[in-house]
Amino acid sequence: MSTVTALPTAAAPLLPPPLLSVDGVTLRYTTPEHVVTATQRVDFQVHAGDRFVLLGPSGCGKSTLLKAVAGFLDPVEGEIRLDGRPIRRPGPERVMVFQEFDQLLPWKTVAQNIVFALTENGVARREATDKARHALDTVGLARFADVYPHMLSGGMKQRVAIARAMALEPRILLMDEPFAALDALTRRKMQEELLALWEDVGFTVLFVTHSIEEAIVVGSRILVLSPHPGRVRAELNAHHLDHAASGGEAFHALSRRIHRLLFGEPAAAPRRLAHG
Ligand code: ADP
Repeated sequence: MSTVTALPTAAAPLLPPPLLSVDGVTLRYTTPEHVVTATQRVDFQVHAGDRFVLLGPSGCGKSTLLKAVAGFLDPVEGEIRLDGRPIRRPGPERVMVFQEFDQLLPWKTVAQNIVFALTENGVARREATDKARHALDTVGLARFADVYPHMLSGGMKQRVAIARAMALEPRILLMDEPFAALDALTRRKMQEELLALWEDVGFTVLFVTHSIEEAIVVGSRILVLSPHPGRVRAELNAHHLDHAASGGEAFHALSRRIHRLLFGEPAAAPRRLAHG
């Protein structure tokens, strides 16, 4: 009898299975007047801890993809799986944050908004109250727990919406242009806060934007989609490129590459101020 000893093979990196897999997904709206194909055979995979961005021009199907991941829309072709299980309906393991400032219930205080979301999802009231306090602490809004949404700025409302989503401890946070309605300075601040929160808590986020700069700053991976109907043009790595890197060559090279993918031409070179 011979003994076969397994020799160590060249170590292939063992990638864990994806948290979310989108395989050959075509999404379509059927209205009495017409049929609109929003995305065509889109493939991508999101791993735990990714900041995965869907980037493309208006109307290319980014929000529709997010809606499908949230479970509001079924693919007409292909499949979307979370932890290997097909997504059939909405669930608290996939929580959405929208662009609109009216996501909060106006008749409930900031804390009550979060407690309500938690108790609706089966969390006991006492635990929900603790989690709400903790979530507000995390986004720096503990002092505003007892005020009503109309007393908050747009940025603060978005922070509450993020706190509420985080309190639900989703497997994946879905963000649909969450900062697009904010002024430029607040938008930048919110992007930085999201990154700081990600460093602290280490969540997974699927983030939709049509801004190249935002995609690079927020994303660790970027899926570039073609104009309507959305097809995958490329998946790019954007690790370590945040606002601090925005003046550097790596940031501009990636930005030019995305520009070419979207528009077939490089972006105009950034104008630099003359010094002395
Ligand atoms: P994006 O988020 O990239 O701007 P959307 O996902 O919102 O794009 O839309 C993709 C396409 O689907 C567009 O052509 C849009 O007009 C269409 N669409 C979006 N929502 C609906 C709807 N409820 N009914 C019919 N068509 C829709």
